[in-house]
Amino acid sequence: MEKKELLYEGKAKKVYKTDDENLYIVDYKDDATAFNGKKKGQISGKGIVNNRMSNFMMQIMEKHGIPTHFVKEISDRETVVKKVTIVPLEVIIRNIAAGSFSKRFGVEEGKTLLNPTLEYCLKDDALDDPMINDYQITAIGAATKEELETIADLTFKVNDVLKAYFAGVNIELVDFKIEFGKTPDGQIILADEISPDTCRLWDATTHEKLDKDRFRRDLGNVEEAYEEVFKRLGL
Ligand code: ADP
Ligand code: UDP
Repeated sequence: MEKKELLYEGKAKKVYKTDDENLYIVDYKDDATAFNGKKKGQISGKGIVNNRMSNFMMQIMEKHGIPTHFVKEISDRETVVKKVTIVPLEVIIRNIAAGSFSKRFGVEEGKTLLNPTLEYCLKDDALDDPMINDYQITAIGAATKEELETIADLTFKVNDVLKAYFAGVNIELVDFKIEFGKTPDGQIILADEISPDTCRLWDATTHEKLDKDRFRRDLGNVEEAYEEVFKRLGL
């Protein structure tokens, strides 16, 4: 597998073309951003934790019948993935109120929700990733009704698997964001990443935050939190 030209540099990862037109290589950086890029910093070692953890989780998803973009980890920070057309949605599940949900609906952070919620944001930095509903998504053609049904089904499955997995290492899965992509033959598969950048993870006993909120909210011990998740997963 040969790494070719840089296709895209995002806030957390670089995406490279390869000598196989169906495959990309993603390279995880230590750069951290929050509030749509308004807060910037570095979390030393984050790229390694996120690459390894994301690959680990993607493989668990595959075992549970959820198709993903994962192909092969080739270094600490680099992974070969299937090239997809990203569905321009941030797909968010919440089990416990936190962050923008708490603010928007006035629900105290930490309250267990009566049912898991599913919400979508349109992936558009210039618009600040606005919340969008099913009708709006199909109206603007961001996804079809059938694609959205697949996305919702797969996302609830991801939640069940992730929640159970983290519970086994004494971590509460508060909420998370995932992205899906479309393969050339039209299949919807899980793409992007699953990491402490994209999940809220709390120690189940102390409720200590073990995720990017430590960076967003200047709570300190950011690197240590990422390392702790890494360690608990046995990575
Ligand atoms: P952002 O674009 O939000 O700054 P990243 O730094 O994580 O995010 O950049 C990675 C980019 O690659 C994202 O836009 C993501 O949607 C995209 N991506 C993730 N997985 C794939 C894939 N398998 N094929 C194509 N693009 C992908
Ligand atoms: N999230 C993410 N990328 C984003 C926005 C949110 O990965 O651009 C994740 C975030 O880490 C959390 C969940 O989605 O696990 C819900 O985030 P929320 O809407 O509460 O937003 P925030 O508090 O980050 O503004």
